[in-house]
Amino acid sequence: MAKTTFRIGGVHPDDAKVSRGCAIEVLPLPQTVYISMAQHLGAPAKPVVAVGDSVKAGQLIAEAGGFISANVHSSVSGKVKSIAPRKDIAGNNVLHVEITVEGDEWAEGIDLSDTLVTEIPGDRAAILDRIKACGVVGLGGATFPTHVKLNPAPGSVAECLIINGAECEPYLTSDFRIMLERPKEIVVGAAIMKKVLGDCRCVIGIEENKPEAIESMSKAVAELGYPGIEVLSLKKKYPQGGEKQLIDAVMRRQVKSGGLPISVGAVVQNVATSLAVYEAVQKNKPLVTNVMTITGDCLPVEKQHNYQFRIGMPLSYIAEYAGGVPEGAAKIISGGPMMGRAVANMDACTVKGSSSLLYLSEGATKRSEPGNCIRCGRCADACPMGLEPFFLFKLAKVGDMDQLEANAVQDCISCGCCQFSCPAFLPLLDQINIAKGQVLGILKARAAAAKAAAEAAKK
Ligand code: SF4
Ligand code: SF4
Repeated sequence: MAKTTFRIGGVHPDDAKVSRGCAIEVLPLPQTVYISMAQHLGAPAKPVVAVGDSVKAGQLIAEAGGFISANVHSSVSGKVKSIAPRKDIAGNNVLHVEITVEGDEWAEGIDLSDTLVTEIPGDRAAILDRIKACGVVGLGGATFPTHVKLNPAPGSVAECLIINGAECEPYLTSDFRIMLERPKEIVVGAAIMKKVLGDCRCVIGIEENKPEAIESMSKAVAELGYPGIEVLSLKKKYPQGGEKQLIDAVMRRQVKSGGLPISVGAVVQNVATSLAVYEAVQKNKPLVTNVMTITGDCLPVEKQHNYQFRIGMPLSYIAEYAGGVPEGAAKIISGGPMMGRAVANMDACTVKGSSSLLYLSEGATKRSEPGNCIRCGRCADACPMGLEPFFLFKLAKVGDMDQLEANAVQDCISCGCCQFSCPAFLPLLDQINIAKGQVLGILKARAAAAKAAAEAAKK
């Protein structure tokens, strides 16, 4: 099998996938779940239940709040206790529906059996409606509503659906485990999305450090026999799972600055999203479960896990079930060590896109004292977006927004390759991230003003 990778930049951190041997375990139900109304990209969902209502698992509790938004369902059966703001993982106040768990009864029409359903429905619009109704969002990190991504604007043609099985972030193994344990469901999900996109080519990209997953997925593809689906082994390089990097690795096409993958004929979906699409379309099961890895350098292998969780489970409950926060954990991260977010609040709850609880020791998180830039250029060599991080860093420090925009800080994917490579230990990513947020704010305000002016001119 040919091995390929993206052509610009990238780094090779130790993959530390110690939990790769941990089979998926189902977490028991807690007494209470708190389900966020903002667990997808776009407008928050609007609750359609009231305090005191009885709900079943899989029942709609909030409707999409706009075009870019997603439905939210209860992950448990029980009674709605409150609908109120609550702090999320970053400490921001977000509306949550609190449900007291009573038993485990699922809404009618949801097939929870293990029976594999391989026949794909014929009606493209009906498939999209089902994916939308079930609240499926991208589970590779962005949580973009899947029904929107699978329905490109008129005139755009999908030539290749890329299923992202790269899982290039160190430590994480949840995607790896579902590729071992649910490979056929992932392939059926891919075949469904391929059909929706007009029967384009479909490539499942997996990094070479997961040979068991490559074998498992290749076997499932061969046994199911859907035409036009192939597995591609990718050379290990971070951030292979980045959308634009994966497109370059698979299609040898570059998405231009500010462009969308569809502009080069690509649609990228994660393997976990493919599984969620299978469950939505073939089993009528809304997205209320996912798999997360409990891992870290201060956690012995016997305490590492891959858990199937339900959305709304408190992180503190999961940590306690897994044996407690380990001694020596200096930092807890949700996501991988390169792009994950520090957990500011362990009372926060799992969301659709939760992928890990990563415990890192002081040794793994301690930063060396920053020195002076020695103009070695390593950060630019490592940047997968072809940016000049040392220059952006300088501009960010003086707050030169015009030059930051002109030098495409908005294209930064916050991958951290620059900071990882810098021998002077400069906080490149931190500074660039702040500047990127400011420039994106300016661009948004400018677009809104242009839209308002165009509308005023029409009157
Ligand atoms: S964080 Fe941004 S600037 Fe740094 S390497 Fe990644 S894309 Fe480039
Ligand atoms: S890697 Fe660090 S020291 Fe080298 S050019 Fe970039 S910022 Fe300067």
